[in-house]
Amino acid sequence: MSEQRRTELATNLQAVRERIERACEAAGRSAAGITLVAVTKTWPASDVRLLAELGMQDIGENRDQEARAKVRECADLDLTWHFVGQLQTNKCRSVASYASVVHSVDRLELVRGLSAAAGARGRPLTVLVQVALDDTPGRGGAAPADVVALAGAVAAEPALTLGGLMAVAPLGDDRVSADPDRAFDRLAEIAAVVQQEHPAATWLSAGMTGDLEPAIRHGATHVRIGTALLGHRVSRVG
Ligand SMILES: *Cc1c(COP(=O)(O)O)cnc(C)c1O
Repeated sequence: MSEQRRTELATNLQAVRERIERACEAAGRSAAGITLVAVTKTWPASDVRLLAELGMQDIGENRDQEARAKVRECADLDLTWHFVGQLQTNKCRSVASYASVVHSVDRLELVRGLSAAAGARGRPLTVLVQVALDDTPGRGGAAPADVVALAGAVAAEPALTLGGLMAVAPLGDDRVSADPDRAFDRLAEIAAVVQQEHPAATWLSAGMTGDLEPAIRHGATHVRIGTALLGHRVSRVG
């Protein structure tokens, strides 16, 4: 296992933790209220292992097949796996076999599929409702108008625990449409409405490498960080 990679990850992790601390300080929040999820997609299980040795516990993946292989390779580690990617209905059972949290529930079929799978595994699954903050198709997320109903559907399933909401800030080709502060402010408003009915649904999964500061400013409790921890992913086809 590469000593150089370990040093690189340790340096990156320290820098991310400092960014989180500074953002919390600026927002008058405690960094203890933020869970850092390391998004290890495209990176090998050896990196997950190094991150675990550096004290990370929460690991995020966005593709079932890749996640399943990594979970198997890291079976001896005490990790909490977060599924953060778009999910096909026929993958619910597989994802529920290893994930503790699914961040990306955006339609009723997934609620049903995950509920059945979590019921079969006999351990409740925490679910976040993903909110679409822009109209870009193909990025997942429920329309804001549908979020309260979807949250209610999750909460009604005994096998599921409604954790809260998740969002990805909009992509945009101008500064206004891509303004993460506006997007996360909107998310926080929707979260407040959901929490009126579901006071325990306090998780807000928002913030990635490029926008963790605005996310924390608007109440994120979980930040999902890939690039700043692991480096730039090589883009791949498919
Ligand atoms: C890849 C990914 C991340 C991490 O993004 P970075 O910009 O690399 O930090 C976070 N959330 C989701 C849903 C992702 O797919």
